[in-house]
Amino acid sequence: MLTMRGISKNFGDVKAVSDVDVTVYPGEVLGIVGESGSGKSTLLRMMNLEETPQAGSYHLALPGREDRDLFTLDRFERRSLRAQHIGIVYQNPHLGLLMGHTNSGNVAERLLIAGKRNFAELREQARQSLDASEFPVERMDATPRELSGGMQQRVQLAKAIALEPAVLLLDEPTTGLDVSVQALVLDTLKRLQRDRAITMVLVSHDLGVIRTMADRVMVMRRGKVVEQGLADQIFQDPQHAYTQQLVHAKL
Ligand code: ATP
Ligand code: MG
Repeated sequence: MLTMRGISKNFGDVKAVSDVDVTVYPGEVLGIVGESGSGKSTLLRMMNLEETPQAGSYHLALPGREDRDLFTLDRFERRSLRAQHIGIVYQNPHLGLLMGHTNSGNVAERLLIAGKRNFAELREQARQSLDASEFPVERMDATPRELSGGMQQRVQLAKAIALEPAVLLLDEPTTGLDVSVQALVLDTLKRLQRDRAITMVLVSHDLGVIRTMADRVMVMRRGKVVEQGLADQIFQDPQHAYTQQLVHAKL
């Protein structure tokens, strides 16, 4: 379970995130929706321990690990925790991948953190993870630079799930892809969710994407959560005027 309480993050005068609480239950998909600039990516970067808020706490239930506020960890502890337990897929693949390294190398780099594997084992695990992300494994020794956007997202996904993360963070994973490719990537995510029950936080400004994927939905506006609830409830009976506007604009 992921729990954030009282999270506030300012950039100078900009209140990117204001006093936000988030709970994500094991195995569920939490969708975060909101217009541009509402603080979605900032919140996700804090979940990935890339960014520290001015206020708030963050707990992630990890087997065999002491339950601490993760924002109190030092830089090195954060890096190791992130590498072992948190997976992320960015909208921009340049943030998640080394474009000149091989696809298998990008995934294997992640596995190295888990320790002492020999080359053949690393390669085999990278292959399995790419395969699970429905990446054509015969292209594992090409580089992300040579791939389409949809395929680059699959490599990011393979890297993110290689170590069975406690939580998989997805920041607009299909934005900017052709609609048909979007659907394929979403299918892969759904399959992973069904087969492995991976806990996910999915950020998107596309309500259609949220509707297909999310169990629960959190609606953000200007750094605040204006409404949250079960996806069906949010889509069928939105309570807040802003959510009503969003949902109706989509219909
Ligand atoms: P989008 O849908 O466009 O991706 P978002 O909901 O992800 O938007 P954020 O990227 O989290 O929004 O940004 C929230 C606010 O914080 C914006 O006003 C943005 O300009 C500001 N912001 C985010 N990151 C930084 C930063 N590193 N430095 C300064 N301001 C930032
Ligand atoms: Mg964003």
